[in-house]
Amino acid sequence: MIWVFPLLLPMIKVDLHSHSTISDGLMTPSELVSHAASQGVQVLALTDHDDVAGIEEARAAAAHNGITLIAGTEISVTWRNRTLHILGLRIDPQHPILQQGLTRVRESRFGRAQSIAQELEKIGIQGSLEGARQFASEGIIGRTHFARFLIAQGHAKDMKTVFKRYLVKGKPGYVPHLWASLEETLSWILAAGGLPVIAHPGRYDLGRTLLNDLLSEFKSGGGAGLEVVSGSHHPEQYGQLAELAQKYDLLASRGSDYHGPGHSYMSMGRLPDLPSQCRPLWHDWEEVREHAA
Ligand code: AMP
Ligand code: MN
Ligand code: MN
Ligand code: MN
Repeated sequence: MIWVFPLLLPMIKVDLHSHSTISDGLMTPSELVSHAASQGVQVLALTDHDDVAGIEEARAAAAHNGITLIAGTEISVTWRNRTLHILGLRIDPQHPILQQGLTRVRESRFGRAQSIAQELEKIGIQGSLEGARQFASEGIIGRTHFARFLIAQGHAKDMKTVFKRYLVKGKPGYVPHLWASLEETLSWILAAGGLPVIAHPGRYDLGRTLLNDLLSEFKSGGGAGLEVVSGSHHPEQYGQLAELAQKYDLLASRGSDYHGPGHSYMSMGRLPDLPSQCRPLWHDWEEVREHAA
């Protein structure tokens, strides 16, 4: 199917994936929003991992900076023994079903963090739980906080190296974890009136069959979109992902996955437009149209 769109919309700088100190970003929600505004972003989604605690502050900062804030979250999911990330965009962050689900996922992170610390202790790295906590705010604790601690202790020189050496599957600090199921994640996002979007599909290394299984299961479970343009995708992946979005009748999304200066795949405000055949997730959003006017 070929879609035709008003030419106005692609001009708007929309970034629907970013992190603050509530999860593993380096900027507070206010700092993040004013940074986005200074880089020309007009519509920004805050999508902290398994948490919505930054939305209120971000919304106030967006009003102050004259940009639009989209309430979001990035939910950690276990699907067929793999970890996937599903964005919930334009959610009601107060919705009790979503809040209960996210609380459960966040709480499960504490036990996982203890296990990571125990594993690191086995290779002689002491005190990593307390150390990681110092890099985490009141929100979630995750591998990024362990990574920052390990770098500060001189165990690796940068994020890329520290993950590769300690924190990915097969490495000493990796602990398998059971996150939310895809089905329940979709039900939480839909209950909260949001749009479920598969985050950075180009990063999962699923292979053709599994990727097709995921997309059809996601679509039939109420999924709305696929992140086609992501800070963590190679530009040569955009075309193939745009085709997949069309094949499964999914809308296309775009997000930097910004985590802060020096901790991101891409700077804010630099994302290329979606490929022209894509139907943008925001094609019928009033708040985007307002910026085009
Ligand atoms: P967690 O949800 O605690 O497993 O942490 C996942 C987060 O770790 C991702 O959202 C990224 O911010 C970060 N991350 C994962 N892999 C890497 C990597 N290879 N290099 C840098 N950061 C990574
Ligand atoms: Mn992250
Ligand atoms: Mn992610
Ligand atoms: Mn992310």
